[in-house]
Amino acid sequence: MEHMTKINRPRGTYDLFPEELTRWQWAEQIARDAFEEYGFSEIRTPIFEPTELFSRSIGKFTDIVEKQMYTFKDKKGRSLTLRPEATASAIRAYLEKGEEQLPKRFYYLGPMFRYDRPQKGRFRQFYQIGVELFGVEHPGADCEIILLLSELFQRWKLKDFEIQLNSLGCSICKEKYSKALFDYLKGTSLCEDCEARKQKNVLRILDCKNKICRSAIEKAPKITDYLCEDCSLHFEKVKDYLHHLKIPYSLNPHLVRGLDYYTRTVFELFLPELERGIAIAAGGRYDNLIEELGGRKTPAIGFAIGVERLIANLDSSEKKKSPLYLAFLGEERILKEVMKLAQRLRRNKIPLIVNYKARSLKSQLHQADRLGSKFVLIIGPEEFEKGTVILRDMKDSSQTAVKKENLIEKIKDKI
Ligand SMILES: [Zn+2]
Ligand SMILES: [Zn+2]
Repeated sequence: MEHMTKINRPRGTYDLFPEELTRWQWAEQIARDAFEEYGFSEIRTPIFEPTELFSRSIGKFTDIVEKQMYTFKDKKGRSLTLRPEATASAIRAYLEKGEEQLPKRFYYLGPMFRYDRPQKGRFRQFYQIGVELFGVEHPGADCEIILLLSELFQRWKLKDFEIQLNSLGCSICKEKYSKALFDYLKGTSLCEDCEARKQKNVLRILDCKNKICRSAIEKAPKITDYLCEDCSLHFEKVKDYLHHLKIPYSLNPHLVRGLDYYTRTVFELFLPELERGIAIAAGGRYDNLIEELGGRKTPAIGFAIGVERLIANLDSSEKKKSPLYLAFLGEERILKEVMKLAQRLRRNKIPLIVNYKARSLKSQLHQADRLGSKFVLIIGPEEFEKGTVILRDMKDSSQTAVKKENLIEKIKDKI
């Protein structure tokens, strides 16, 4: 046969093996527990959606929609897109099921997709953990969402985070400010992307990482000076509640987020270890989005956390627990006995791996060691006759013979 070449994973993706997944599972479990405590329930939506869902929600003139979407035609010629984020999908699902009683609290964990230049910490398939709260306009909800986010980072033992806060106001405030910013930038030369943004989406210029643009906007007007009375009051309340709950934050009047749908409160969370200007989590209000996607006018707020960056910063010593190893010596009838014993132990929630191949005890112990088993159970001809099992502690190589009927009890407090 001709030599077959190996197939590699697509660029910008990665595989996760059990050793790494222990940390993922630890972090995910903490998130699930916290979400449940705050009354959020999990939602799972398809990985692909009609392209229009994202162009309509995220905004046509954003980097995500213009450059980064995985869009393809299916066999019937329908345009589909691998989800670049989950908020629009959650709304689509909620509306499609039929509007229910509000408020609704959802959380999600899963892969998202963006066709971006892969670099350190940035992938084309990446994971997000997030929440969406539909139906509460009160600024207390903004505070609760930020509190939940900060609670998570505390529990993940990442206490040195910084939360930056801003308000974008409602669509009236946003428009007023956009005009002011446009006037301010008139005649200023910006990077190529931002020159185009001037006409299409001037707010996005505030988000540009280019040096020229950064210095151009340094003294630009602040959106918080353009808030209408309601939006201004809302923002004051949010800050007041955060203060009351002792959640530290700093104000960043140029924080706009890369998606068009945000209104009023927006926030980003930073870790000191991370490169400047790269948030590990972010969110905000999107009070018009549900209506824009065909629902009733419904206030909403949420956040998403970049899981790769989170995991890279975790200092968790969570180790994977290795199963016990069940060794046998001798002939087929002993192996059969071993298989029966394995079934009984597993039913009692004792995880174990069975060796099937007749070989020396030495090589079986070597394998158990390689698998990280803390204990090995050994059954040879002698044990088979006596109805016992040898329990070997791999740490100090001590061995004890245990009667089969006492085995479960004996192991249970060791693992
Ligand atoms: Zn307003
Ligand atoms: Zn720029």
